[in-house]
Amino acid sequence: MIETRELTKRYGGKTAVDALSFTVRPGRVTGFLGPNGAGKSTTMRLILGLDTPTAGSVTVAGRRYDRLTAPLCEVGALLDARAVHGGRTVRRHLLGLARSHALPARRVDEVLGIVGLETVADQRARSLSLGMAQRLGIAAALLGDPGVLILDEPVNGLDTEGIRWIRTLLKSLAAEGRTVFLSSHIMSELELTADRVVVIGRGRLLADTGMRDFIEAHSPDSVLLRTPDGESGRMRALLEARGATVLLNARGGWRVTGLTTAAVGEAAREHGIALHELTPLRSSLEEIYTAMTGEAVEYRGSADGEDKELLR
Ligand code: ADP
Repeated sequence: MIETRELTKRYGGKTAVDALSFTVRPGRVTGFLGPNGAGKSTTMRLILGLDTPTAGSVTVAGRRYDRLTAPLCEVGALLDARAVHGGRTVRRHLLGLARSHALPARRVDEVLGIVGLETVADQRARSLSLGMAQRLGIAAALLGDPGVLILDEPVNGLDTEGIRWIRTLLKSLAAEGRTVFLSSHIMSELELTADRVVVIGRGRLLADTGMRDFIEAHSPDSVLLRTPDGESGRMRALLEARGATVLLNARGGWRVTGLTTAAVGEAAREHGIALHELTPLRSSLEEIYTAMTGEAVEYRGSADGEDKELLR
């Protein structure tokens, strides 16, 4: 469990984290979202005792990080995959960490196996690709078999297979009852991996909720419909008579707003009209996130503000 209470960090006149209160619970994967400069890294650094709060508090596994007796065995963290001594081999890097916590050398082999780095164990860290360096960072985070994992952009540099691998790994670590907290810029990936989301903008909390609830609450109240019944046929008149608005899209589908999927299906059945598709329209995490954080963006990238077409 990670708990922040009114957590605040100011650098001079700049408030990086602003009275932030949220709880990251065990047994789930929680995604941490926010535009560049929102305060995610600062929050993670405060959780890990790498910086001290200006006000408020943060605990991990029930205590302040600096009060943990064997931090590696309680909290595993990956903040910067390149922050390793490049001249050391992969195995020696992990052995050094293991020794600092009196962990047996065989644990190093175990984590090398978990992350799939056995074949490069004797290579120097500086020779690793970014994807392999990420795997090494994850191995180090897992070394002490901790109950809490904090990962900043863990999929950075991983290929498609690597991304799928980490998704499965994080879900299984959460299923074992661990707390998994990760940030990622790849929204489509986070949507698949995380069960919960914490969203911040300009250091403030914007949302702290379940992923499915978050998407449902911010999706339009619309249904996508396909029917062989013509544009000016009975189905359209029926829907409009029941108060719905019907918009045709370029691909021959209808976007029906103002009636539930069930109400549309029942109306079609009552009148014996065939339907070829009936789907509730959901926004993607990325669409919701972009709309929500638009005003909280500190540094706007060139891809921001793209108008995405919701209808298929
Ligand atoms: P994110 O990880 O969401 O991109 P950060 O936590 O890195 O955001 O930064 C939040 C804000 O705090 C930014 O405006 C950043 O410039 C500022 N900031 C972060 N660290 C420092 C620091 N050591 N000194 C001054 N300002 C900082």
